[in-house]
Amino acid sequence: LLLAYEPAKRLAKLQVQMERAAVNAKMIYEILDMQTHQRDKPGAGELKVTEARVEFRDVRFAYGSNDPVLHGLDFVAEGGKTTALVGPSGAGKSTVITLVPRFYDPAEGAILIDGQNIADVTKSSLRHHLAYVSQQPYLFEGTIRDNIRYGRPEATDAEIEDAARLANAHEFILAQPMGYDTPVGENGLTLSGGQRQRLSIARALVRNAPILLLDEATSALDAESEAAVQQALDAAMVGRTVIVIAHRLSTVIKADKIIVMQAGRVVEEGTHQSLAQRPSGLYARLHNLQAAHNGRDVFQEI
Ligand code: ATP
Repeated sequence: LLLAYEPAKRLAKLQVQMERAAVNAKMIYEILDMQTHQRDKPGAGELKVTEARVEFRDVRFAYGSNDPVLHGLDFVAEGGKTTALVGPSGAGKSTVITLVPRFYDPAEGAILIDGQNIADVTKSSLRHHLAYVSQQPYLFEGTIRDNIRYGRPEATDAEIEDAARLANAHEFILAQPMGYDTPVGENGLTLSGGQRQRLSIARALVRNAPILLLDEATSALDAESEAAVQQALDAAMVGRTVIVIAHRLSTVIKADKIIVMQAGRVVEEGTHQSLAQRPSGLYARLHNLQAAHNGRDVFQEI
């Protein structure tokens, strides 16, 4: 009994830490099943996902009484495809990503998943179908295994290892002093930026959710970690609807669709090829700038 009790206790403790961390509005927690204090609409049904197509329809949004941030945003992220959000800093890209799990609700307009308004379904059923990988992966106090299991508390050890393998993390985990049982987080082992990212990707993979929200990291990793993280992300993206705040040119080029945002609006959309051919467009200007910077991220810098 004790053996079963210990992990449950640790998870409960992690949950408390996570709720505390959740106070920071800018950080979307990588676990989206967490309890929220906001209630569901009376009679809210369960979200039913078939294609995992996400649609923003005339979405307007302001943070509290501040000036509006999104001014009637329309776009579709097709099921199973990758949609990249690019645009200058402050355009509203992160805000788009926070609206999907309903950390905030639009003031007007609607967000639909497979035709269902996400405001009309239970938050738990909505979040069950979402996974999120942030720029700054958060590690909770606990073991490496706990940190991956956060993605889905009922995951088996075998499922955790499978996710870690796919995320290119299994080998470095085995190289740690206690393997999957090595403590990490504030009082545990310090992992490198690339290792943390791969754990965070494993956490997303173990959820096996059809929709992946991804805030691509801007921080520089050494070439080897960069390649390992990229491989892990590529694995995580296969077969999912991905909405990515893209910082790398390679991600943007590979995306099925690019949404160019500026000041809370979609100003252009298309593939890299089609957008790059419009020399006076914002995308082409951002892209030329990036080329001039040897591929470093400037998609969001002007
Ligand atoms: P960046 O690339 O710099 O992250 P972004 O395109 O992701 O920019 P957002 O972070 O969505 O843009 O910000 C859009 C606008 O909303 C900005 O003016 C920002 O200051 C404001 N904003 C973002 N988060 C909050 C918040 N929690 N409370 C109030 N205002 C916010």
